Amino acid sequence: MTKAIYPGSFDPLTFGHVDIINRALKLFDHLVVAVAINPAKAPMFTPAERIAMLLAVVGDESRITIAGFQTLLVDYATSIDATVIIRGIRAISDFEYEFQMALMNRKLNPQVETVYLTPSAQYSFLSSRLVKEVASFDGNIDCFVPPLVAQKVRAYYAQHR
Ligand code: ADP
Repeated sequence: MTKAIYPGSFDPLTFGHVDIINRALKLFDHLVVAVAINPAKAPMFTPAERIAMLLAVVGDESRITIAGFQTLLVDYATSIDATVIIRGIRAISDFEYEFQMALMNRKLNPQVETVYLTPSAQYSFLSSRLVKEVASFDGNIDCFVPPLVAQKVRAYYAQHR
């Protein structure tokens, strides 16, 4: 059984993330979607809120586990017996950072492989940052994020404006 881990901020979850999750499920037996807990990043949603949104959207799939982590990624992967790190590549602009990270992670733990997946072209321009920017100006984000996430993002800006 191959267990993969898909780490990220998921602040918030978008259809791009969901696309990558579904592709990863076709390749691996079990997928741990791991929410990075980094208090220094000042996220829009708390780790508990981001985990709750992931659970609501993809939690019904028995081959998915949702978790939070705040240690070194490769150490966390090893602790849960995951041998593959999944990352999404949208465009060349993602490549440099992802390439550095893959090589650093390999140096730290050669047993863990990084696998890159590309989303459907319709999501290749999509990022959590842009979704937040559009929503902050009252733009419609319904085609970028699941309905529950859209509702939470709108509620956030209704309070923080
Ligand atoms: P970051 O790691 O920059 O904080 P996220 O945590 O939101 O970004 O994303 C986690 C992973 O999902 C990263 O590998 C990122 O490239 C990927 N990703 C984010 N949005 C998309 C998208 N629209 N299509 C494909 N992959 C995506």
